[in-house]
Amino acid sequence: MLGAIAGDVIGSIYEWDNVKSKEFELFSSKSRFTDDSVLTIATMDSVLHGNTFEESYKKWFWKYPGAGFSGNFKKWAISNEPYYGFSNGSAMRVSPVGYFCDSLEEVLRMAEDSSAVTHNHPEGIKGAKAVASAIYLAKNGATKKELKDYVEKTFGYELGESIDSIRKWYSFDVSCQGSVPQAIISFMDSDSYEDAVRNAISIGGDSDTIACITGGLAEAYYKEIPEYITERVMGILPDEMKEVLQRFYDEVYSRWMKQ
Ligand SMILES: [Mg+2]
Repeated sequence: MLGAIAGDVIGSIYEWDNVKSKEFELFSSKSRFTDDSVLTIATMDSVLHGNTFEESYKKWFWKYPGAGFSGNFKKWAISNEPYYGFSNGSAMRVSPVGYFCDSLEEVLRMAEDSSAVTHNHPEGIKGAKAVASAIYLAKNGATKKELKDYVEKTFGYELGESIDSIRKWYSFDVSCQGSVPQAIISFMDSDSYEDAVRNAISIGGDSDTIACITGGLAEAYYKEIPEYITERVMGILPDEMKEVLQRFYDEVYSRWMKQ
């Protein structure tokens, strides 16, 4: 969703140049979309058109092979074999699943399917399921306390630490178990979409992906993204990505917003 994509774009200039602070420029002339946005769009494309996740991830990878994909993912795009991944790659692309499905059971099943084509390690699958289900609960009006209790109980992530505390020790960790809990806490400790994304980037690490995960969740909960962010991000996205995004909002997002 745009919340995830905007997080990726905002984080794109901080992944290799971490800021351990919430005071930073949201955009620069170097801000760009990365693999996280490309695969989030691919997930939307897949659920909208009924293509398999495998087909869709490959199709979109080949459109933007230089967007920042990992070596493992590139090898998979040629070879086909899942690589037992447990990196946050399974969690950063899953946000549309949380919006698309009509029940928690369906969310968990589809999140697992989307992960397993590449990230068939239990931690990779767990990361995708945790993010997608948290988004599903947030979009349906769960409180932060309910979200926290569900994720801790179901997935065993510990979400009790504050962002100010995490910022002191956190460093680069692309595993699901070493970045998904921090991304969820970035949302928990926030009071708006922008505040959540600032939290996510302020801890350092894999900033584009953490902010992408946090941004998807924050959008589902706060249900609004400031216009100065959406306008800037839409200006960066190519038309074919915007078309998929628009269709997803028209067909899926608006459906539950009306409920
Ligand atoms: Mg990336």
